[in-house]
Amino acid sequence: MLNTNQLNMVMALRRALHGCPERSGHEARTMATIRTFLHENTSLEVRDMGGWLLATHWEGDSLPAIGFRADMDALPAGDGARHGCGHDGHSAMLCGLGLLLEGRRVGRNVHLMFQGAEETGEGARRIIDSWPELNSLQTIYALHNIPGYPRGAVLMRRGCFACASCGHIVHLTGRPAHAAYPGDGANPIGLLSRLALETPQMIEEILSGDDRLLMRTLIGLNAGGEDFGISAHEGRLCQTLRGHRKADIDALVQKIEARALAGSRVAGLKCNYEIRDAFPDTTNDDDHYDDALARFNAAGLPVKLLDEPMRWSEDFGWLLKKVPGVYFGIGAGEDCPGLHTESYEFDDGLIEAGVRVFEALL
Ligand SMILES: [Zn+2]
Ligand SMILES: [Zn+2]
Repeated sequence: MLNTNQLNMVMALRRALHGCPERSGHEARTMATIRTFLHENTSLEVRDMGGWLLATHWEGDSLPAIGFRADMDALPAGDGARHGCGHDGHSAMLCGLGLLLEGRRVGRNVHLMFQGAEETGEGARRIIDSWPELNSLQTIYALHNIPGYPRGAVLMRRGCFACASCGHIVHLTGRPAHAAYPGDGANPIGLLSRLALETPQMIEEILSGDDRLLMRTLIGLNAGGEDFGISAHEGRLCQTLRGHRKADIDALVQKIEARALAGSRVAGLKCNYEIRDAFPDTTNDDDHYDDALARFNAAGLPVKLLDEPMRWSEDFGWLLKKVPGVYFGIGAGEDCPGLHTESYEFDDGLIEAGVRVFEALL
């Protein structure tokens, strides 16, 4: 457990990080702040991995290694950025674990990973691409503070913790024509509307009665204009696809694109697709989940089991596809404003709870 002095240091660090919010992929000052803190207060070996920081507690070559990951990017806000998701708090908590490791032997090598660009879904893949040793880790852990749940409760779920999601765009291009002779052109509106209307049916085909979540949200349907002499010749359908399994989303994307392609051939349209902000499902490994739950119970931590996965997505899911591990939440209080809202700010009172949870996993 952190002593009062250490807790004050970590809270001051959290406020310092809060004071230099940086957008995804631009976390230079944030990394410098964390680096300085770890250099001044720990003997961890800290390496700049290009967009993320790796701080290692090393006990010996033959020992197994585990990893803890914290995100550190802020959200875009006007021309700048703002810590509206509490990643300043997550990074501070992980630095708190760094303080606790000082002078201790835990029988394992411990890697603290400070990851940028979580909000865009790119940061975890950067770790995968730049650090082959990741694959040799025994297990990895990460947490998120979650408003709407009892303050300090450890939120656990076996299997899927958070949904997979992606933004999907169908872009159709045809030929303009005089409105008196629309048959001379190729107009995409009919096909775009059909795709929008038929996507729920495609979802039912994939689920075939199973009650796991797979949904789409209509984000935009833009085509043509207000010039009543010209038949539309270009348009886009934007949908957010979300579900408990990334494989379901992949299947849905295939169905939408196959139907768009077939319809385009008939209508003489050109068809392009785009996927943005792709996140996998964040799914816990059963064995490591059981181990973590047993440790939390043994440490007397207040655990709350979740019935449903979170609907939002988290890019830690990419890391869990490489290394078996556990993602969990820390309740931020029933009255805490929601993540990404203007009034949200990370609650320093959660730091002690977060560090205790990390410590239980050592
Ligand atoms: Zn967020
Ligand atoms: Zn977040």
